Amino acid sequence: MIFRNGLVLTMDDSHTVLENADVLIVDDKIAEIGPDLTAPDGHEEIDASGGILMPGMVDTHRHMWQTAMRGYGADWTLTQYFVWYYLESGKHFRPEDIHAGNLLGALEAIDSGVTTTVDWSHGLQSTDHADAAVDALESVPGRFVLAYGNIQQGPWEWATSPQFQEFYRRRIDGGKLAGFQMAFDVTGDPAFPEKAAFEVARELGVPVTTHAGVWGATNDDGIRLMHDSGFMSPGNVYVHAATLSSDSYHRIAASGGSVSVSTESEQSAGQGYPPTWQLRRHGIPVSLSMDTSVWWSGDLFSAMRTTLSADRAREHLEAHGKQETVTHHHLRAEQVVDWATRGGAKALGMDSSIGALTPGRQADVVLIKNDASPVMFPVLNPYGHVVFQAARGDVHTVVVDGRTVKRDGKLVDADLAGARTKVNATIDHLRETLGEEAWKQGMNPDIPEARILHNPYQYTK
Ligand SMILES: [Zn+2]
Repeated sequence: MIFRNGLVLTMDDSHTVLENADVLIVDDKIAEIGPDLTAPDGHEEIDASGGILMPGMVDTHRHMWQTAMRGYGADWTLTQYFVWYYLESGKHFRPEDIHAGNLLGALEAIDSGVTTTVDWSHGLQSTDHADAAVDALESVPGRFVLAYGNIQQGPWEWATSPQFQEFYRRRIDGGKLAGFQMAFDVTGDPAFPEKAAFEVARELGVPVTTHAGVWGATNDDGIRLMHDSGFMSPGNVYVHAATLSSDSYHRIAASGGSVSVSTESEQSAGQGYPPTWQLRRHGIPVSLSMDTSVWWSGDLFSAMRTTLSADRAREHLEAHGKQETVTHHHLRAEQVVDWATRGGAKALGMDSSIGALTPGRQADVVLIKNDASPVMFPVLNPYGHVVFQAARGDVHTVVVDGRTVKRDGKLVDADLAGARTKVNATIDHLRETLGEEAWKQGMNPDIPEARILHNPYQYTK
């Protein structure tokens, strides 16, 4: 197939931008990029004029099983999230509920141009749950990395169980998924019980992804324990990393790890200030993520926009504290587009095959184009346009591995009705199990008392 006359953000090593260029895809690979390409007979042609072509986006941390509860926790804090999922209700999710959430999350990802997603799947109470998660991911034509976790047990328990080992051999080793990680957090307990799980990861040769630097949950102690025991391997991904000291950032940078920043999550839930302003200073590679659709949605346009804004807000705030003015921003739109594409590919060790539009790479391509939108012209600053102007509704065509999964703004061959039926069954099950009062209370946390300040300018008699 061929895209004709697009503005191409190649995201190659020198971030080459091409105007009025074609992108030719042959089988599952990008064959050629340039003006007026000759396409083989019988090819499919897509008019990309007025649009922007970019590599498929990569989300390095999404709890896809939670998509079945879309929007339920919009007003939560992290504490309320922990109480609901970790302590009270997470255990009620059956394998079919994991399947329903993953199915909807996977469709949501490819619909919004996210061609590779890490499913940070920490609701896997049994390998039946894990099978259900993988079944759902394999049924949707995107790239998915399963990050296996289980919040109902310590990682030293599930990771060392024969069931986990059997699951890994049966479904993952040589399986269809794009990759595999082990997902667990390190509490900072000086006895370091998580060591046993790190040893399993090392034996299997798989990376670890861990929520690190989360206010009130994980901190510098966890980083120090991992580092002192030699478990900070280069492929590890540190999620949030929002409340860490410079010492921990140095350890992450030196060990070749990267950080998955979930700005919307950090802003609303309270893991800490979105850390890109710190990560930049420490030379730590960044990727972006949306965390969970229980609050937000699986949409990296939001991630790019909020990440750029949060970084700049911090830069201004720090300067104002010193009575200074920022006249030139450090972080540019171009850099966050890099983080959303190349950065994610690099974090997953997949940067030689995806993350850029260059001949020979796998064909994961997104066309942003919407002729009906007054926001799609003029396109003057293409990186700025992607970050601050475009939105998921402008995702016109998505190609994964050479296969068109979305065309003309519509998912191709996606069984949305089937997904809806499954998600509805999950909602019915949870609502019934929790009871109507708990269901409503869970969605509507108490509001702390607030007082409006006395206003000295109001006349009173
Ligand atoms: Zn998370």
